[in-house]
Amino acid sequence: MTATRRNWAGNIAFPGVLHEPADLESLRGLLGSGERLRAVGTGHSFSDVAVPAPGGLPGAQVSLARMPVVRELDTARGLARVSAGLRYGEVAPWLHDHRFALHNLGSLPHIAVAGACSTGTHGSGDRLGILATAVRGLRVVTVGGDVLELSRDGEGPGCGTEFSGAVVALGGIGVVTEVTLTVEPTYDVVQTVYDDLPFAALVEHFDAIMSAAYSVSLFHRWLGDVVDSVWLKTRVGAPGGSADPLPDTVFGARRAVGTQSPIRGGDTDPLTEQGTPGPWHTRLPHFRLGFTPSAGDELQTEYLVPRHRAVEALVALRDMESDIAAALLVTEVRSMAADDLWLSGAYGTDAVGVHFTWKPDPHAVLPLLPRIEERLLPLGARPHWGKVFTAPPDAVRPLYPRLGDARRLLTTFDPDGLLSNAFLDAYVRD
Ligand SMILES: Cc1cc2nc3c(=O)[nH]c(=O)nc-3n(C[C@H](O)[C@H](O)[C@H](O)COP(=O)(O)OP(=O)(O)OC[C@H]3O[C@@H](n4cnc5c(N)ncnc54)[C@H](O)[C@@H]3O)c2cc1C
Repeated sequence: MTATRRNWAGNIAFPGVLHEPADLESLRGLLGSGERLRAVGTGHSFSDVAVPAPGGLPGAQVSLARMPVVRELDTARGLARVSAGLRYGEVAPWLHDHRFALHNLGSLPHIAVAGACSTGTHGSGDRLGILATAVRGLRVVTVGGDVLELSRDGEGPGCGTEFSGAVVALGGIGVVTEVTLTVEPTYDVVQTVYDDLPFAALVEHFDAIMSAAYSVSLFHRWLGDVVDSVWLKTRVGAPGGSADPLPDTVFGARRAVGTQSPIRGGDTDPLTEQGTPGPWHTRLPHFRLGFTPSAGDELQTEYLVPRHRAVEALVALRDMESDIAAALLVTEVRSMAADDLWLSGAYGTDAVGVHFTWKPDPHAVLPLLPRIEERLLPLGARPHWGKVFTAPPDAVRPLYPRLGDARRLLTTFDPDGLLSNAFLDAYVRD
């Protein structure tokens, strides 16, 4: 008897068959067969988003892991076309070898381009949009087996203004096989860690702290009046960058000695290099491709809070901080620029991600989530689609002003919901 396949964290089962077509014609045949199918990337989501089929119905997943590798550069237009199933860690070094770069990366390079963009995955940076904001085009195999090229300049469903609904679509418009990304000349980044930021300084100087570098992350364990660390990822020798030596203190936090883990005292082997400049893709993610990212045994939750309510959100969580701390490995706070992608956590507003890496104990974690949501959702916070949350559909849907348009788009592409699942039905389609 074969064991049930699971997501990376092991908290979600993937019942049913996994199809791994090796070419476009086989993929088209699968999608034309009338079988219920759900695309899966690298399975790094913690929510039910990639689970096949609505509850009880038979369904299968389709992975692009065996599809031919496409990596093409249009240097004149600053575009790269890549296979959607490639991991960022397989795209970024190739881009750098050709002297190009992406604007940002998530904390790990292990995730597939289409899987990450489909859930609104983000890195950090006041002026940097989520990863999906780099997407200029999508090649999609639709539920009937047709191949469509979607872009803002194109015509037909999913093109023009509807492209804003197609990029972050939670697997609901078809199987994306290729993604065209905006690229820019390669650049270097240096990451510098500062320890022990007074919480009061965070409250007073939040905007200045989050804009102190190209990409800023805060790590906090809710253990009192001090935030564990401030990570500044500074762009070197390029527009928006700085060649100035960094100060020894930042708003009361002291420059750390040696390599630091996001989880204080944690293993530093999986981490990208700190303290010295290096290519963007070797500094923007916290974790290296050849290693287990993060703690490895964990659950994750995140809420994207409108930027202007971020301090309020952080302060609101303090009255339950001892309960959070008991179930937590670490919280990360990151920022992102507003975008126009209908199902993005940063749709229409600059946003701050308030993230929780939890101990792998659902009994301790799940009861906390409604209490966190009760504090954050009234501030307009949107749960990350790829992480664990408990807010019901009627609390989440009003947070997305273009949800009605997204629902119409998904239904146009997949009228019978053959590519949908219970999660997508509940939060977007029904
Ligand atoms: C250790 C760890 C660290 C993380 N760090 C971050 C972070 O820094 N920032 C952040 O925002 N998130 C982060 N996440 C969450 C993660 O980025 C998202 O869950 C992301 O969607 C995972 O990508 P994936 O390839 O595993 O997608 P999957 O989980 O496999 O799938 C996600 C969704 O994408 C759809 N999909 C996948 N492939 C395709 C395709 N070819 N065509 C159409 N739809 C497709 C699926 O149907 C599903 O709806 C982290 C997760 C882990 C485990």
